[in-house]
Amino acid sequence: RIVLEVENVRKVYGSKGTSFTAIDDVSLTVRHGQIMCVVGPSGAGKTTLLKCIAGLLNTTSGRVVVDDVVVTSPPPTLAMVFQDYQSSLLPWMRVEANVAQPLIARGMKKRDALATARETLEAVGLAGAERKYPWQLSGGMQQRVAIARGLAYKPEVLLMDEPFAAVDAQTRMELEDLVLSLRARFDITILLVTHDIDEAVYLADQVVVLSKAPTTVVDLVSIPFGQE
Ligand code: ADP
Ligand code: ADP
Repeated sequence: RIVLEVENVRKVYGSKGTSFTAIDDVSLTVRHGQIMCVVGPSGAGKTTLLKCIAGLLNTTSGRVVVDDVVVTSPPPTLAMVFQDYQSSLLPWMRVEANVAQPLIARGMKKRDALATARETLEAVGLAGAERKYPWQLSGGMQQRVAIARGLAYKPEVLLMDEPFAAVDAQTRMELEDLVLSLRARFDITILLVTHDIDEAVYLADQVVVLSKAPTTVVDLVSIPFGQE
């Protein structure tokens, strides 16, 4: 089942005279349960592509389809995690409230939202940190909170923009393994932008290379899972 389709998407910033084409004719397809990584040099348009998929930017032409619905505003079945975990967490709220808050905003009762938040925190390895404040946690743990915040409302698709660029190498490896375990546990589809080719190869079923040349999609899956 295809959950995400990007069809001939083009994004031009600015207007006549000062216009700049950030991405030009990008197409890709992601199936349920897959991890697709987007790599490419700085300025290649990776963040622009993610924002178009997330419904945070309008495409100039082409379209994005998530769960059979053409994206015109942020899809309810999609969550996004950013590199800058600090600005995605509210410092005056306890960890559990940070995770519960988007659920409450979607109409869930506070009690149920907190219960779901605690479950999700346990899933990302943060049992015991529920009552702490974000600033009492390490960078890697804060990024886990940001991931839990995205996962709590059970999205179909998780978009991650350079999620581990701001943490040390050891923490990055732990978080990469966390991503693989979350994919299985939450049965989600993940699109992850990274600078790190090793990370892309380690995590991805498919890698998209954005560069000056036409966009290419490389399929890394040649051996069906579990049959090596
Ligand atoms: P990447 O994430 O691969 O580094 P971006 O998507 O951030 O690339 O940016 C792609 C190009 O678009 C860059 O050249 C950048 O300067 C330009 N760009 C990004 N945002 C804007 C904007 N709001 N207005 C004009 N140009 C932009
Ligand atoms: P095995 O189970 O065969 O020992 P691993 O899964 O531990 O293999 O590692 C396979 C390869 O992936 C190794 O080259 C290792 O360095 C690399 N690797 C392991 N964990 C990570 C990680 N979290 N991020 C990036 N590379 C990793």
